[in-house]
Formats: sequence, structure tokens, C-alpha cells
Amino acid sequence: MKPNFLQTPIDYLKGVGPNRANLLKKELGIHTFQDLLNLFPNRYLDRTQYYKIGQLQRTNAEVQIIGKLTHIKTVEQKRGKRLVAKFVDDTGSMELVWFRGQKWVRENLKLNVPYVIFGKTNFYNGNFSMPHPEMELLEAHEKSIRSAMQPVYPSTEKLNNSGITNRVINGLMQQLFVESKNNFSETLSPSILESLKLISKAEALFNIHFPKSQMHLARAQFRLKFEELFYIQLQLIRKNLLQKSKIKGFTFEKIGDNFNNFYKHHLPFELTNAQKRVIKEIRRDLGSKAQMNRLLQGDVGSGKTIVALMSMLIAVDNGFQACLMAPTEILAVQHYNGLLALCKNLNTSIELLTGSTKTSKRKEIHEKLQNGDLNILIGTHALLEDKVKFKNLGLAIVDEQHRFGVEQRSKLWHKGGPSAAGNSTIPPHILVMTATPIPRTLAMSIYGDLDISVIDELPPGRKDIKTVHRFDANRLKVFRFIKDEILKGRQIYIVYPLIQESESMDYKDLMDGYESIVREFPQPEFQVSIVHGQMKPADKDFEMNRFVKGETQIMVATTVIEVGVNVPNASVMIIESAERFGLSQLHQLRGRVGRGAEQSYCILMTSHKLSADAKTRLETMVRTNDGFEISEVDLKLRGPGDIMGTQQSGVLNLRIADIVKDSEILKAARSYAIKVLKVDPNLSTKENFAIKNTYAQLVKYRNIWNYIS
Ligand code: ADP
Ligand code: MG
Repeated sequence: MKPNFLQTPIDYLKGVGPNRANLLKKELGIHTFQDLLNLFPNRYLDRTQYYKIGQLQRTNAEVQIIGKLTHIKTVEQKRGKRLVAKFVDDTGSMELVWFRGQKWVRENLKLNVPYVIFGKTNFYNGNFSMPHPEMELLEAHEKSIRSAMQPVYPSTEKLNNSGITNRVINGLMQQLFVESKNNFSETLSPSILESLKLISKAEALFNIHFPKSQMHLARAQFRLKFEELFYIQLQLIRKNLLQKSKIKGFTFEKIGDNFNNFYKHHLPFELTNAQKRVIKEIRRDLGSKAQMNRLLQGDVGSGKTIVALMSMLIAVDNGFQACLMAPTEILAVQHYNGLLALCKNLNTSIELLTGSTKTSKRKEIHEKLQNGDLNILIGTHALLEDKVKFKNLGLAIVDEQHRFGVEQRSKLWHKGGPSAAGNSTIPPHILVMTATPIPRTLAMSIYGDLDISVIDELPPGRKDIKTVHRFDANRLKVFRFIKDEILKGRQIYIVYPLIQESESMDYKDLMDGYESIVREFPQPEFQVSIVHGQMKPADKDFEMNRFVKGETQIMVATTVIEVGVNVPNASVMIIESAERFGLSQLHQLRGRVGRGAEQSYCILMTSHKLSADAKTRLETMVRTNDGFEISEVDLKLRGPGDIMGTQQSGVLNLRIADIVKDSEILKAARSYAIKVLKVDPNLSTKENFAIKNTYAQLVKYRNIWNYIS
């Protein structure tokens, strides 16, 4: 096989003319031999078994039978003609039926010679029949390299209508194997093959397209899944190592006054062990010479904010600036107020920058950032604007990272300060925090180039939130419950869905809901706040603040309060039309309560009409408070692409592996990728020759997903 054989344009494969080539390119993205080879079947028809007519069951499954045609006749019907043939073996007889292509069948099928037929059977009036069977002469069948497990390839309607059926694809694949003589080079190292007992690449490719048995197929799938995940991990880890060795970071050598003072005298509570561990991990990164790129995962309420603050204090103590970016204005304001209070006895300055910061204030902030008078900047996307220039940004923190795109993360990179020598910019250390607990397997794929810290422990004394599901018909009971809680001094959230497509309807629901709440909970005994996206920022702040200060007992809101908001005295979260929310959103919303010492409640209100998925979501919420468990269910319900949003789903366009089902293989792939790169970072040993080559090819032909550029 020539070295570039696999890069040959698909037009050159025997059986592919310009028409077919165009269709293959357009419909399946197949441009080269390689692309065709990597078109893996979606499923297989098991043709390892041959049935006797006497063994057929009424299950309507696909079966394969050997027998002969004895008669063919045309049967006239009201709705047109059909062709019926009698098919027999030594145990009985059945009918084969054609509605289309009758002329061709009549002219081409031979009587009284053995055929292998394949298809779905019907059972009617005591007889089995098979419409439009696939038929092949037994003699040809025995010679065919098409295997017993027959692959079913991905296809499109257009392909099918243009005559490029599964059978045709199958034929092209055979042709490709004939031309290549199944001479495909190995792509993994001998030691990996050996230690995982993997079959060779050539054997795997053959058996994925023409498996001889279920067992052969399983081994081929395992090998190819491993390989796919291995190269993705290799790329991500390589990037991470490169960053560590090549990308210089600021070294924060000392643990200074602010940090120590805060730690010794102003911590409002004792840190959990998980918080301590994570702070240590961050400190270690900040003290090394390399740039930190760390993901901090922790369920809602696990206390990530204090970790962020202490990390920023380390930066400040070392003479650097730090910033914290939040996805919403409400959250940014809350962080600002909270951190301002915590830092009041420290020697550090903090400011807030959002879209609604006044021009004069904005100017002042810009100046103080550039001359170094400002240590810590909290804000929204506004931080990313070009006008925002730091004197020496040493640490950038992104809260609720899942709300931002990869792009925004990389924008922060360029906000760094000059190096000590003053001749180049060094990117700031980056800490991204997320409370959408992503299953570890998914995190490995999406954030594989980041180091991961996990806060897997909630602060002590938290009671599990009691979650119940109530139908709209029970609303009065729910109102009574709310009243009792308010009389005990607690506060209540009531959240309405706001989905873009039906925005005006949703606002109507929200306002109707608000009015009925105000009727049910009249002033002056009760005070009700309302916050939604169409309000002016100043009004939102005003209402939010009234609730934070405890002046109002009920907060009616859309999901703008979903992330981050912290009002420890709020103990009840009511979610209206809960069936319309996704699982992670429900979990985030529930995380707004249960932040104080009291027993908290989450009430999921729905109508009686519930889809199966909605039922699963509600049951999951009622069953567990564990964010990781919830995210696993979410992943199963929605699939990985939906969870991360399109901008991050590239890595998930996997050809054969499945991040949910193959998480064990993913873990193995990751650990082998780490092992290989630890020992041989440049892949220059003889042992890793095949890996180096394959990796280079993948990058060259863009067959591997490009992570952040
Ligand atoms: P999240 O991880 O969701 O951002 P926060 O940082 O907002 O969580 O913390 C949630 C609440 O828990 C806050 O009121 C915070 O003050 C409190 N908290 C954080 N850590 C601890 C701790 N170690 N002990 C007690 N309370 C804590
Ligand atoms: Mg938070």
C-alpha cells in the first residue's frame, strides 16, 4: 500500500463515479479513502444464524433462511398487483412478496436453486411471509467476504433515493479492502497493544466492517473506541503539558499579609477539608513557574467563593491584580458585596464593573486598573472589553464557567501583564469554577486540558433540602405552607420559566402569578419582590436588595436568579411549571435554598400532563440532592452535545465511542495517554513511533478536534 493511499480522493475508488463521489462528499462528508474506512456502521444485522422455516417465531424479527423458490405468480388485487413466490426448505414453506420491482424480480430470480434470503417475517392466517427479501444465491453467499454480521451504515434519505443503498456502501467498502489488501498500519504502540490485549488496527478495521462473529465485533469495537478516545486525550494532555513547560506564569512566591490576616482573624467559618485541599492545590500552582489552568468543580453551596477570594488574596499579596467574572449582573453584584464585607479589615481595594456601571465610575476604574491602585475587580462580561486594561493581572477567575464559551475564557488570557523583564506578556493564572456538576468522564473530555479540583463536601450543618412534587391542583395547600414558613421568619422564592420562543406567554404567566401571590399575601403583612429580565438593572438591584436584606419575604422571579445568588435565610424554593426546566437548571435553582441552618424545601409544581422524560427529571430531583448523580441522569436523558451547548460539543462528535457508555474505556485511554507523555513527551522513542505518526496525520488532516486555538 502506498504511503498516501488512504488520502486518495474517493472518486478514484472503483465503483465511485463523479456522481456518487459528489453525493458521498455532500451527504456523509466522505472525501477520501480514509473517510470511507472510518465510516463505522451504526448497527449490525446478525447473519450468523440460519433459520429453518419450521423454526420461525411470530416475533417479526429479521431472519436468514436457506431454501429454494418453487413457484412465482402475480396476484391481482384491488390496490394493484403483487408478486408472490413460494419458498421452501426441508421443514416447510413460506411466501416471498414483492410490491415493487416485480418485472426485475421475475426476470432475474431462478427457480429451484438454493438461495439465502434475509428480511423481516410477517405472520398472517397461519402462514409466514417475507416482503421484499434480500436474496443471494447460496453459491455467491458462500464466497462473499461480506460477513455474517452485516453492517448497517449511516445514511441519508438522499443517498438512498439516489441508489446509494446500504448494499452499495457495503460493496464500496469491500472494494476498498480489496485494493488496500487490508494492509493498514498499526496506530498504537506495542506496549499498549500488549498490556490491553488489543487486536491490531488492520484486524479491528476488518472486523468493524465485516465481523465474523459477535466476539470479533466486540474486540474490534473496543480497540477502535480506545484508539479514538486515546488520541483525543493525547491531544488535550499534550496541550496541558505544553502549557506547563512552555507557558510561563507569574510565580507567587509568598503567602503574605492579606492572606494570613484573613486566614487567622477574619474567616467567617472554618473551612471544610475539601476547601483546604483545593486552596492548597491552587497555592501550589500559583507558586510554580507555570501558568495555572484549573477547573474548580463543586456542587451548589459547596463554598467556592471563599476559595476564589483566598486565591485572589495570594495574587494581591504578591503585588498582582486579580479579577472575578460572573455570568449575570445580579451575581456579580452579590459577589462584590460579599467580598467587600469579607475584606473590610484587609489592605486591598475592590471595585465592581458591569454593563450598568456609570461612565464616570467606569473611567475611574479604568484608571485605577492601569495605575495599579485597584487590586481586585469583580464584574460581568464587561471585564472582557478591550478598554479594560490591567496594570498586572495575575489571576483571572471565571465563576459558573458553563455560562461562558471557550472563547471568553481565552480572552482573559490576553489580559495579562508584562513579564518582570517587561518585554513580553505573561498570561494570568486562570481558575474557572462551575457548579453544573459535570460527570467526571465528560469533564475529562471537555476540560481535559485543565487540571481539575473538586470540592466534594458541603459545609457542616447543612440539612438536605426536602424536595416534593405537587400538582397545580394543590396550590392552596402550598400557599398555606408558604405562610407558615414566613411566620417562622423565612423567605421564599417562586420561580417561573422563561423560554425565549414563548417569551410573551411566559411573561404573562409570570405577571399573573405575581398578581395572585400579591392577592394571597397582601401588604402590609407581606412584601413581595419581583425580578425579571425585562426590568432595568437598577430596578432589579433594588428588588434583589430588598429581598437580601429581608425586607421582602417572597421573591417572584424568572431564572435570572438561577446562578449563584446567596440568601441564607431563604428556605423554600417553589418552581412553577417545573416540567419545563432541564435537570441541571432545577438543581441550580434548588441550590438557592438550604444555605442556612434551617430545614429547606423545594416544591416542584406541575400540571398533570407530563412526558416520560419530565417524569424522570422530577423523580430524580425528589430522590437525590447529589449534583453528580443528577448530572449523570441528565447526560443520559439529553446526550452530551446538548449538555455542553454547541460551542463546546465538538469533541463529542465521536465516531465510535460514547462518552456515557464507554466511560471506563475513556478512563483507560486517559491514563495511558498520560503515561505515554510522561515518559516520552515528544513521542520520539521507537516504541511510540506509530503514535507519533498517527497523531501527526490526525492533526494534519484535521481529523482530531481542535481545542481552543
Ligand atoms: P457556591 O459553591 O455555590 O458558590 P458559596 O461560595 O456561595 O457556594 O457558599 C455557599 C454558602 O456557604 C455561603 O453562605 C458561604 O458563606 C457558606 N460557606 C462556604 N464555606 C463554608 C464553610 N466552610 N462553613 C460554613 N459555611 C460556609
Ligand atoms: Mg457560586
